[in-house]
Amino acid sequence: MGTWDYSIFWKETLNQFKNELSEQEFTMWFNMEYETSSDSAIILSVPSAFYRDQVKQRYQNRIETKLLELTGHSISIEFEIKQRTRPAMQDKPSEHESVHKDDEKESVKIYQSSKPAAPVSTERGNHPLLRKDYTFDNFVIGENNKFAANAAIAMSKNPGTAYNPCLIYGGVGLGKTHLMQAIGNLAWKEKGCKVIYVTAESFTNEFVESIQHNSTKAFKDKYRTADILLIDDIHFLQKKTETQEELFHTFNALYDANKQIIFTCDRPVSELKNLSERLRSRFERGLNVDLQPPSYETRCAILSKKVESRGVDIPQEVINLIAKNISSNVRDLEASLTKLIAYAELTHKPVTLETAQQQLRDSFGAPKQNNVTIETIQKVVAEYFSLSFNDLKGKKRTKAISFPRQLAMYIAREITEYSTTELGMEFGGRDHTTVMHGCQSIEQRLKAEPSLETTIQKLMKMIKDFNS
Ligand code: ADP
Ligand code: MG
Repeated sequence: MGTWDYSIFWKETLNQFKNELSEQEFTMWFNMEYETSSDSAIILSVPSAFYRDQVKQRYQNRIETKLLELTGHSISIEFEIKQRTRPAMQDKPSEHESVHKDDEKESVKIYQSSKPAAPVSTERGNHPLLRKDYTFDNFVIGENNKFAANAAIAMSKNPGTAYNPCLIYGGVGLGKTHLMQAIGNLAWKEKGCKVIYVTAESFTNEFVESIQHNSTKAFKDKYRTADILLIDDIHFLQKKTETQEELFHTFNALYDANKQIIFTCDRPVSELKNLSERLRSRFERGLNVDLQPPSYETRCAILSKKVESRGVDIPQEVINLIAKNISSNVRDLEASLTKLIAYAELTHKPVTLETAQQQLRDSFGAPKQNNVTIETIQKVVAEYFSLSFNDLKGKKRTKAISFPRQLAMYIAREITEYSTTELGMEFGGRDHTTVMHGCQSIEQRLKAEPSLETTIQKLMKMIKDFNS
């Protein structure tokens, strides 16, 4: 090597992509560095294997086509993984460790200051704000969450570099908080990062209190010294104008200092209402990844893992039974298991398929509250509007059908405890966000049209009377 130098072509390639892509996309994915060339390839360095795979999938062809145009030769690109230092952490070590950069190659290791090199993990206990069981080791990766989980691992290894900010979204009980805290736990233990975890609700409350107590400076300082800021459930910020404003400034301060910022939300940002445009654009910058409900196989794997970690004996057929019957939410999956374990402990009996069936009958798609099932709601509403049950549940989107359908969703939200994800599945396999949107549009209509309330009350009564 050495006789080949294609760096000039790489520069030109970058220039061209810069013009062709949005600024966001370009900064996010063209964070590759030219390393060297061989006779027919350019070697680029990237911050992680995950990053490499994403770039390959998204841009390799386009980049190689461009190189062919520019040089008249076919030049391929190859990747080398090189973890990079984070400049921002070097000039401001976290309160616990200081970070040296003696040598580029060593740059990812963190040493205790002026003590013999020792891995931080042996020195650090549990993080005070994070659940210690919310780790990557305890997180089962399946098709539904692979992308998010890999991005999360990459972020905890290289915070503030490749995916910043990051928004993890998805329905309730799908592992958003777990994944977010796993990033915090790993980065805290292995890299000595200063990690702050807060729910959007606590952030709001703290901010309001700081105003009342004239201590906004302390509030600002606290959040602006994080290496990694984790804010959970940002949908809570809707309508909280002043908190949004404050978060916007916190965001900018951290972002400019290359600190990692991660948010979670129960829906895509585009579906949040009452959010300032500039904060929305910050949330949307960087990487947005979603968590989907797990497949049957992944549900079995999650249950097996929980069984193992609790050191109990539950037969495989029971695991399969739960996984088959509870499909939309990992939290419910766990709750069923906990119930069985408690039962076994109380009665000193082993869990068998039969006891499981008995004990879990209530959790399995049976009525949750007031003896009302989603099916009953759908039947009553369909009949009231002279529609067929199948149309109400189905995919057609004509106005005559979609209004009754939204109404049925709204009523189901009001009188049952089904999550929006579960409801989405019951309404023709729709996304949970569609259900939320449906409910919101009924709420809007209710404001403009109070007589709708009477209809809803009437329908609710019919639903409750349906079985008797
Ligand atoms: P969310 O914040 O999305 O509502 P949580 O992170 O609170 O969901 O997850 C609910 C429960 O399900 C937690 O106990 C979590 O540990 C568990 N869980 C979710 N996804 C997984 C997974 N992929 N592997 C193992 N446990 C999971
Ligand atoms: Mg959560």
